[in-house]
Amino acid sequence: MTFDDFSLIEPIKSALATEGYNTPTPIQSEAIPVALKGRDILGCAQTGTGKTAAFAIPILQLLNQQHQSGVDRKTIKVLIVTPTRELAIQIGDSFTAYGRNLNIKHTVIFGGVPQNAQVNALQRGVEILIATPGRLLDLMNQKYITLKNINILVLDEADRMLDMGFIHDVKKILAAVPQKRQTLFFSATMPPEIVKLSSSILHQPVKIEVTPQSSTVDIIEQSVYFVAKADKPSLLMHILKDQSLETVLVFTRTKHGADKVVRILNKGNIKAEAIHGNKTQNNRQRALNNFKSKAIRVLVASDIAARGIDIEELSCVINLDTPNIPETYVHRIGRTGRAGAEGIAMSFCDVDEKPYLKDIEKLIGKKIPVVTNQPFPLDPNAKIVRPEKQARPERSQRPERKPRPERSPKPQQEMKSTHESRPSGEHNRNQQHGFRSRSDNRNVQRKTK
Ligand code: AMP
Repeated sequence: MTFDDFSLIEPIKSALATEGYNTPTPIQSEAIPVALKGRDILGCAQTGTGKTAAFAIPILQLLNQQHQSGVDRKTIKVLIVTPTRELAIQIGDSFTAYGRNLNIKHTVIFGGVPQNAQVNALQRGVEILIATPGRLLDLMNQKYITLKNINILVLDEADRMLDMGFIHDVKKILAAVPQKRQTLFFSATMPPEIVKLSSSILHQPVKIEVTPQSSTVDIIEQSVYFVAKADKPSLLMHILKDQSLETVLVFTRTKHGADKVVRILNKGNIKAEAIHGNKTQNNRQRALNNFKSKAIRVLVASDIAARGIDIEELSCVINLDTPNIPETYVHRIGRTGRAGAEGIAMSFCDVDEKPYLKDIEKLIGKKIPVVTNQPFPLDPNAKIVRPEKQARPERSQRPERKPRPERSPKPQQEMKSTHESRPSGEHNRNQQHGFRSRSDNRNVQRKTK
């Protein structure tokens, strides 16, 4: 299948060619024709599958069609709600890219930054609004936004919104959009709450499931290094001597860990910056841009920042700490090997992290090769001398609690680093409620009903 099969208008086709997209990804093949017909979609897919283009391309084409009948180009007709600022920005960038040859205005709004620039953009008039829930409600309450002309609604990463406690905000937003509309609903997993929500808002949806995880994981060259915690920075410096690793994303479990690694790398003349919840939105965006433009070689991130990171040609992901929740491993390494590209993922594992490695291998269904030829091997007699003090789980893995809209200009806070995480993590909660985890989706076939 090619993009020619969708009867797309020329300006979109040429924008896709500029982007270098030749073949639609599976979710695009299924979703684009359905969305173009005006049908609702229940999409089970996560970031990395090409799902942004799967909804952005038909939206642009449908809006362009509406222009033929002379609609007002300054009212918001399409609303895309997404959980994180980073995702919102990326969706905005995608609309800029795919809509480069069209005159369709969009803007992105999110919390954690002053609202003035966002309000100005809204007042100039846009047809597409991409928003995180808290700021959207805030600006609706201040009467800067009305949703009464929305005819297409996209809910992106619905399960993530549930995890982040945004579900009440989402329900308020749903109450403000017209009943008569097209709804495109995407979620990486389909726990019962999400199924319930989707069935209450979708009208005879076409169900589309794509499962990138196993295939993504399969094409990534994975390895593990057994190394003592104290030697991890030296091993990292050693690995980074390999200049073929051009863009390296390093994950740490805590924000303090991330800052420490950056200091060590900078001392060793390796350009690195950290991205985590203690940084302001502007700092995070600047670090991300520096990384994307290759002004820095290493970006050190904690999990909270991981979901939104979409960098083409990311050569390598290094887990400085073996993730204690197996699904986190899959999310992290999924930052490399995107859209079919090859990637490398290395994990450092101290003796007390070995049980986590076992859990990961169980989840991905294969053994990760151990690199033995390295200068900082773990003492074979090393024993776990104390129970591992773990970082508290990231926001997405905490139990649900009352939603907190992101109205405050303060950056998102991450967790303190001294709390037991596993019992309250997403993994356990999912099991408790009989949810299907992302990993459980691995073998589900794509299907359109
Ligand atoms: P997404 O799942 O929307 O976050 O997209 C993941 C990545 O795949 C992004 O970097 C897109 O630019 C890229 N991508 C999306 N669709 C295609 C395509 N048809 N061909 C090549 N790359 C694509």
